[in-house]
Amino acid sequence: MASIEFKHVKKTYDNNVTVIEDLNLKIEDKEFVVLVGPSGCGKSTTLRMIAGLEDVTDGELYIGDRLVNEVEPKNRDIAMVFQSYALYPHMTVYRNMAFSLELKKVPKDEIDRRVKEAAEILEISEYLNRKPKELSGGQRQRVALGRAIVRNPKVFLLDEPLSNLDAKLRAGMRSQIAALHKRLQTTFVYVTHDQTEAMTMGDRICVMKKGEIMQYDTPQNLYNYPDNMFVAGFIGSPQMNFLDATVEDGCVIFNGFKVALENQRISEYNGKKVILGIRPEDFYVSTDGIDAHIELAEVMGHEVYLHLDCSGTPVEIRIDTDEYHKDMEDIKIKYNPYKAHIFDPESEEAIR
Ligand code: ADP
Repeated sequence: MASIEFKHVKKTYDNNVTVIEDLNLKIEDKEFVVLVGPSGCGKSTTLRMIAGLEDVTDGELYIGDRLVNEVEPKNRDIAMVFQSYALYPHMTVYRNMAFSLELKKVPKDEIDRRVKEAAEILEISEYLNRKPKELSGGQRQRVALGRAIVRNPKVFLLDEPLSNLDAKLRAGMRSQIAALHKRLQTTFVYVTHDQTEAMTMGDRICVMKKGEIMQYDTPQNLYNYPDNMFVAGFIGSPQMNFLDATVEDGCVIFNGFKVALENQRISEYNGKKVILGIRPEDFYVSTDGIDAHIELAEVMGHEVYLHLDCSGTPVEIRIDTDEYHKDMEDIKIKYNPYKAHIFDPESEEAIR
């Protein structure tokens, strides 16, 4: 078991492109940390540096107390699970799982014990004699996990392991991997571009953009207290509404509707423009409030998304199915002032 720490880590690829300038990140022992962000933001690069598959250009990388910049991947005591599964097609499931232990000259009966135990945890015992091509995508992914488990590593690294699975299977595997983490009590670092996956699995989530950490916090804190517009927009689906507003007398005004907010710093912005951030679920339909025209009512079964036009500004809100509203209707909406987020339009940082 081990913590992981990046201290002022820089990564420049051979083509002289610096993708990470100055990464400082501490992952605690036994923690499940998800690296999330849009494609190309440096998640895989970060994970591959931990694995030793990419060199660290500058700075220090620690696994536990050990500086690992110069340590070979095979000596780092980590196991990595890839999106592609990377199973050996000609070997049975059993041998796929046993192979790395055979290379390490682990005694046969010990290998047998570990493979069977991992197979049991992952519920693949009945497939041990099959070849990978005789398995479904979900079963193959479990074999890939099994191959990591048998090695009893200090750190599990998972790079988009569920991307090749269909939506239903993905949801099931999500909870299985979270359960596996609890059972193994080992450090997990998990890369995904999918914010739902990040929110449901991580103890902490590291949101990245262009090689920089935008916020590193628990799922709940990212959702409730995003530090900037990037995190506010990235976490949560449908996305938070960002509305052009002004501040007067410590109140925020959007489309002529003035609301007093409990915000310590709002008065600093008197007479200035701000961005008002409201999540779809924090709006409600009211007899007074902001004028809105329903462009589209999207009925999702247990909830309805209303796509609104608020005097030229598009706004999306979520309401219950029993509050029936139809397309083209004119309504009025309000928002919960306790759930309002305010951002500086220049820096895009949260004001609070
Ligand atoms: P993510 O996992 O967030 O999608 P990556 O870490 O794969 O992002 O990539 C980050 C950036 O580094 C991208 O701009 C990508 O093009 C670049 N990159 C990745 N691998 C290499 C490489 N081997 N050589 C040069 N550039 C690379």
